[in-house]
Amino acid sequence: MKTDTLTDPLQEVVTTIPVMEQFLTLQGEGFHTGKAAYFIRTGGCDVGCHWCDVKESWEASHHSSVRYSSLLASSVDCNAEIIVITGGEPLMYDLEVLCELLRTSGKSLHVETSGVYPLTGSWDWICFSPKKFKSAQTEYYHKAHELKVVIYNASDLAWAEEHAEKMNADAKLYLQPEWSKKDQIMPLIVEYVKKNPKWRISLQTHKYLNIP
Ligand code: SF4
Repeated sequence: MKTDTLTDPLQEVVTTIPVMEQFLTLQGEGFHTGKAAYFIRTGGCDVGCHWCDVKESWEASHHSSVRYSSLLASSVDCNAEIIVITGGEPLMYDLEVLCELLRTSGKSLHVETSGVYPLTGSWDWICFSPKKFKSAQTEYYHKAHELKVVIYNASDLAWAEEHAEKMNADAKLYLQPEWSKKDQIMPLIVEYVKKNPKWRISLQTHKYLNIP
Protein backbone atom coordinates (compact mmCIF):
# COMPACT_ATOMS: atom_id res chain seq x y z
CA MET A 1 0.00 0.00 0.00
CA LYS A 2 1.34 3.39 -1.01
CA THR A 3 0.77 5.85 1.80
CA ASP A 4 3.94 7.90 1.67
CA THR A 5 2.34 10.61 -0.46
CA LEU A 6 -0.20 11.08 2.29
CA THR A 7 2.35 11.92 4.92
CA ASP A 8 2.74 15.61 5.50
CA PRO A 9 5.53 16.65 7.87
CA LEU A 10 3.58 19.77 8.80
CA GLN A 11 0.47 17.67 9.48
CA GLU A 12 -1.49 19.90 7.11
CA VAL A 13 -3.10 17.15 5.10
CA VAL A 14 -6.59 16.37 6.33
CA THR A 15 -6.98 12.62 6.78
CA THR A 16 -10.40 12.41 8.37
CA ILE A 17 -13.91 13.10 7.12
CA PRO A 18 -17.34 13.19 8.83
CA VAL A 19 -19.06 9.90 8.09
CA MET A 20 -22.72 9.23 8.83
CA GLU A 21 -22.59 5.54 7.97
CA GLN A 22 -20.71 2.96 5.93
CA PHE A 23 -22.08 -0.37 4.81
CA LEU A 24 -21.93 -3.12 2.25
CA THR A 25 -25.04 -3.32 0.10
CA LEU A 26 -26.19 -3.30 -3.51
CA GLN A 27 -26.20 -0.11 -5.53
CA GLY A 28 -29.90 0.64 -5.76
CA GLU A 29 -29.98 3.40 -8.37
CA GLY A 30 -28.84 4.33 -11.82
CA PHE A 31 -26.42 2.64 -14.21
CA HIS A 32 -24.81 0.32 -11.66
CA THR A 33 -28.06 -0.88 -10.10
CA GLY A 34 -27.82 -4.35 -8.60
CA LYS A 35 -24.03 -4.42 -8.14
CA ALA A 36 -22.49 -5.07 -4.76
CA ALA A 37 -20.91 -1.90 -3.43
CA TYR A 38 -19.36 -0.57 -0.25
CA PHE A 39 -21.07 2.73 0.58
CA ILE A 40 -19.46 5.53 2.55
CA ARG A 41 -22.00 8.23 3.38
CA THR A 42 -20.34 11.47 4.38
CA GLY A 43 -21.96 13.87 6.83
CA GLY A 44 -22.78 17.43 5.79
CA CYS A 45 -24.98 18.91 3.08
CA ASP A 46 -26.20 22.46 2.53
CA VAL A 47 -28.22 21.95 -0.65
CA GLY A 48 -31.54 21.75 1.19
CA CYS A 49 -33.77 19.51 -0.95
CA HIS A 50 -37.16 19.55 0.80
CA TRP A 51 -37.79 15.91 -0.18
CA CYS A 52 -34.34 14.69 0.92
CA ASP A 53 -34.49 11.16 2.37
CA VAL A 54 -31.26 11.54 4.38
CA LYS A 55 -31.87 14.83 6.19
CA GLU A 56 -30.03 13.40 9.18
CA SER A 57 -26.87 13.70 7.08
CA TRP A 58 -27.12 17.48 6.72
CA GLU A 59 -25.34 18.63 9.87
CA ALA A 60 -21.70 17.58 9.60
CA SER A 61 -21.02 18.14 13.30
CA HIS A 62 -23.52 15.41 14.15
CA HIS A 63 -21.26 12.81 12.60
CA SER A 64 -17.96 11.43 13.79
CA SER A 65 -14.81 12.14 11.86
CA VAL A 66 -13.39 8.89 10.56
CA ARG A 67 -9.80 8.39 9.51
CA TYR A 68 -9.19 7.69 5.84
CA SER A 69 -7.11 4.67 6.80
CA SER A 70 -10.09 3.24 8.67
CA LEU A 71 -12.35 3.75 5.62
CA LEU A 72 -9.80 1.96 3.48
CA ALA A 73 -9.53 -0.95 5.91
CA SER A 74 -13.32 -1.34 6.07
CA SER A 75 -13.87 -1.15 2.33
CA VAL A 76 -10.99 -3.48 1.46
CA ASP A 77 -12.40 -6.05 3.84
CA CYS A 78 -15.37 -6.92 1.60
CA ASN A 79 -15.75 -8.60 -1.79
CA ALA A 80 -17.55 -5.72 -3.50
CA GLU A 81 -15.55 -4.29 -6.38
CA ILE A 82 -17.07 -0.82 -6.04
CA ILE A 83 -16.72 1.84 -3.37
CA VAL A 84 -19.43 4.53 -3.54
CA ILE A 85 -18.87 7.85 -1.80
CA THR A 86 -22.25 9.43 -1.24
CA GLY A 87 -23.83 11.87 1.15
CA GLY A 88 -24.90 14.24 2.23
CA GLU A 89 -22.84 16.13 -0.28
CA PRO A 90 -19.41 14.46 -0.31
CA LEU A 91 -17.76 17.12 -2.45
CA MET A 92 -18.14 19.68 0.32
CA TYR A 93 -14.78 18.15 1.16
CA ASP A 94 -11.61 17.92 -0.88
CA LEU A 95 -11.61 14.21 -1.74
CA GLU A 96 -8.24 14.13 -3.50
CA VAL A 97 -6.28 12.43 -0.73
CA LEU A 98 -9.10 10.08 0.24
CA CYS A 99 -9.37 8.94 -3.38
CA GLU A 100 -5.65 8.44 -3.59
CA LEU A 101 -5.74 6.15 -0.58
CA LEU A 102 -8.90 4.26 -1.57
CA ARG A 103 -7.39 3.74 -5.02
CA THR A 104 -4.86 1.38 -3.42
CA SER A 105 -7.75 -1.04 -2.75
CA GLY A 106 -7.95 -1.82 -6.46
CA LYS A 107 -11.69 -1.20 -6.40
CA SER A 108 -13.65 1.15 -8.65
CA LEU A 109 -14.35 4.50 -7.05
CA HIS A 110 -17.77 6.05 -7.60
CA VAL A 111 -19.13 9.34 -6.31
CA GLU A 112 -22.70 10.61 -6.08
CA THR A 113 -23.02 14.38 -6.04
CA SER A 114 -25.32 17.33 -6.59
CA GLY A 115 -22.43 19.06 -8.36
CA VAL A 116 -22.71 22.16 -6.21
CA TYR A 117 -19.04 22.07 -5.19
CA PRO A 118 -15.94 21.78 -7.39
CA LEU A 119 -14.96 18.24 -8.30
CA THR A 120 -12.00 16.82 -6.44
CA GLY A 121 -10.60 13.30 -6.51
CA SER A 122 -10.11 10.81 -9.29
CA TRP A 123 -13.22 8.77 -10.12
CA ASP A 124 -14.17 5.79 -12.21
CA TRP A 125 -17.81 6.84 -12.15
CA ILE A 126 -19.44 10.18 -11.41
CA CYS A 127 -23.18 10.22 -10.83
CA PHE A 128 -24.32 13.83 -11.14
CA SER A 129 -27.73 14.64 -9.72
CA PRO A 130 -28.37 18.39 -10.00
CA LYS A 131 -30.88 19.93 -7.64
CA LYS A 132 -33.21 22.92 -8.06
CA PHE A 133 -32.17 24.37 -4.76
CA LYS A 134 -28.53 25.23 -5.67
CA SER A 135 -26.81 25.58 -9.03
CA ALA A 136 -24.29 23.00 -10.15
CA GLN A 137 -20.74 23.67 -11.32
CA THR A 138 -20.34 23.57 -15.10
CA GLU A 139 -17.57 20.96 -15.02
CA TYR A 140 -20.01 18.18 -14.07
CA TYR A 141 -21.80 18.44 -17.40
CA HIS A 142 -18.48 17.62 -19.08
CA LYS A 143 -17.12 15.05 -16.65
CA ALA A 144 -20.06 13.05 -15.27
CA HIS A 145 -20.78 9.55 -16.54
CA GLU A 146 -24.37 9.63 -15.44
CA LEU A 147 -27.04 12.32 -15.08
CA LYS A 148 -29.74 11.37 -12.61
CA VAL A 149 -32.65 13.77 -12.23
CA VAL A 150 -35.13 13.23 -9.42
CA ILE A 151 -38.67 13.88 -10.63
CA TYR A 152 -40.97 15.29 -7.97
CA ASN A 153 -43.61 16.82 -10.22
CA ALA A 154 -44.40 17.04 -13.93
CA SER A 155 -42.54 20.30 -14.48
CA ASP A 156 -39.31 18.60 -13.44
CA LEU A 157 -39.25 16.79 -16.80
CA ALA A 158 -38.63 20.06 -18.63
CA TRP A 159 -36.00 20.92 -16.03
CA ALA A 160 -34.35 17.55 -16.65
CA GLU A 161 -34.14 18.33 -20.35
CA GLU A 162 -32.33 21.59 -19.63
CA HIS A 163 -29.61 19.59 -17.90
CA ALA A 164 -29.52 16.80 -20.49
CA GLU A 165 -28.81 19.36 -23.23
CA LYS A 166 -25.63 20.38 -21.42
CA MET A 167 -24.34 16.86 -20.75
CA ASN A 168 -21.45 15.25 -22.59
CA ALA A 169 -22.50 12.85 -25.36
CA ASP A 170 -21.43 9.69 -23.49
CA ALA A 171 -23.41 10.33 -20.33
CA LYS A 172 -26.27 8.00 -19.40
CA LEU A 173 -29.48 9.87 -18.68
CA TYR A 174 -31.82 8.79 -15.88
CA LEU A 175 -35.15 9.99 -14.56
CA GLN A 176 -35.83 8.82 -11.04
CA PRO A 177 -39.20 9.27 -9.32
CA GLU A 178 -38.95 10.90 -5.93
CA TRP A 179 -39.86 8.11 -3.52
CA SER A 180 -42.84 9.73 -1.79
CA LYS A 181 -44.35 10.71 -5.15
CA LYS A 182 -43.54 7.55 -7.08
CA ASP A 183 -47.09 6.24 -7.35
CA GLN A 184 -48.39 9.51 -8.84
CA ILE A 185 -45.37 10.39 -10.96
CA MET A 186 -44.30 6.96 -12.30
CA PRO A 187 -46.97 6.69 -15.04
CA LEU A 188 -45.93 10.11 -16.30
CA ILE A 189 -42.25 9.12 -16.40
CA VAL A 190 -43.03 5.84 -18.17
CA GLU A 191 -44.92 7.67 -20.90
CA TYR A 192 -42.16 10.27 -21.13
CA VAL A 193 -39.43 7.67 -21.60
CA LYS A 194 -41.46 5.90 -24.27
CA LYS A 195 -41.57 9.16 -26.20
CA ASN A 196 -38.01 10.21 -25.31
CA PRO A 197 -35.92 7.04 -25.34
CA LYS A 198 -32.62 8.75 -24.64
CA TRP A 199 -33.79 8.59 -21.02
CA ARG A 200 -33.91 5.52 -18.79
CA ILE A 201 -35.82 5.08 -15.56
CA SER A 202 -33.84 4.75 -12.35
CA LEU A 203 -35.71 3.18 -9.43
CA GLN A 204 -34.57 3.21 -5.84
CA THR A 205 -34.46 -0.57 -5.90
CA HIS A 206 -32.81 -0.80 -2.47
CA LYS A 207 -36.02 0.63 -1.00
CA TYR A 208 -38.16 -1.96 -2.78
CA LEU A 209 -35.75 -4.64 -1.52
CA ASN A 210 -35.73 -3.15 1.97
CA ILE A 211 -31.93 -3.04 2.13
CA PRO A 212 -29.78 -0.04 3.06
FE1 SF4 B 1 -30.37 15.50 0.53
FE2 SF4 B 1 -28.71 15.00 -1.51
FE3 SF4 B 1 -30.36 17.13 -1.60
FE4 SF4 B 1 -28.28 17.08 0.10
S1 SF4 B 1 -28.19 17.08 -2.15
S2 SF4 B 1 -30.37 17.76 0.56
S3 SF4 B 1 -28.21 14.92 0.71
S4 SF4 B 1 -30.96 14.94 -1.60
